[in-house]
Amino acid sequence: MNNKEHQPSLDQLIDQLVSRPRKGCLFVLSGPSGVGKTSLCHRAVAQLSNLRYSISHTTRPRRPQEVDERDYFFISQDQFRQMKQQGDFLEWAEVHRNFYGTSRKFIEEVTSQGEDVTLAIDVQGAAQIRANTKNSVLVFVLPPSLEQLEQRLLNRASDTPETIRLRLENAYAEVNRYREYDYLLINDNLDQAVADLSSIIRAERCRR
Ligand code: 5GP
Repeated sequence: MNNKEHQPSLDQLIDQLVSRPRKGCLFVLSGPSGVGKTSLCHRAVAQLSNLRYSISHTTRPRRPQEVDERDYFFISQDQFRQMKQQGDFLEWAEVHRNFYGTSRKFIEEVTSQGEDVTLAIDVQGAAQIRANTKNSVLVFVLPPSLEQLEQRLLNRASDTPETIRLRLENAYAEVNRYREYDYLLINDNLDQAVADLSSIIRAERCRR
């Protein structure tokens, strides 16, 4: 039997590869509070096509400059509990004494259309995504130094000294989980870090 008869021709093969359906990928960014994960995601979304940002749900009180449904879906503890019971979250976690979760529906809608999504979530949530979602890439964002991280949290001026202390206390445990990530990104200069993130996304889009 001639095997060649069952093989596609070269032009069919190229055609298949060029037009192969691609499911969207989740680009998960974690890192200590104040490191700039959200800014990085928004800048990458503005630069690259077919890339969206996943707006999380949270029970944390809204900061003065934050806008509901733009920065977060701010919801009550009861609403969060109900959504959790209904299986509405792809992942969820308690972080710095508040609850946060990612909408399963949004992620499924966007990725099934072939679009990629960026998520700025904590290490517990990233581990859940890694365990349950095949098409995910995990990026850990580091500050150039602890001093700079402290300074960024102070500059934000929206958190109480108690909140800042709690966030710095949690930073050690978060950074210590860097081995669970595919990439390490140092956010020293935002432009450079955005360029690095865009490179990661572009390279992953070419993955076989
Ligand atoms: P913040 O209160 O400063 O906005 O966020 C606190 C922490 O919660 C950050 O590390 C942030 O990345 C994380 N976070 C935000 N949204 C989510 C989410 O949907 N799921 C999880 N697991 N963490 C989140």
